[in-house]
Amino acid sequence: MAGETNEAKPKAEKQTNCPACNKLIKKLKRYYRDGKFYCTKKCWRAFIAKSKAEDSQEKE
Ligand SMILES: [Zn+2]
Repeated sequence: MAGETNEAKPKAEKQTNCPACNKLIKKLKRYYRDGKFYCTKKCWRAFIAKSKAEDSQEKE
């Protein structure tokens, strides 16, 4: 343990997961909207719907 030199790379705040389904976004199929990446358009819409619901509906 001690004595090992592991070069810790600086963590780049790079978005790799879909905000909607939290899955890893594949570069080939990513969907970009409003500064964020989603894995599909469907996930983008789901995320928008979810955030809107949370914003406007605090109680069920
Ligand atoms: Zn997704």
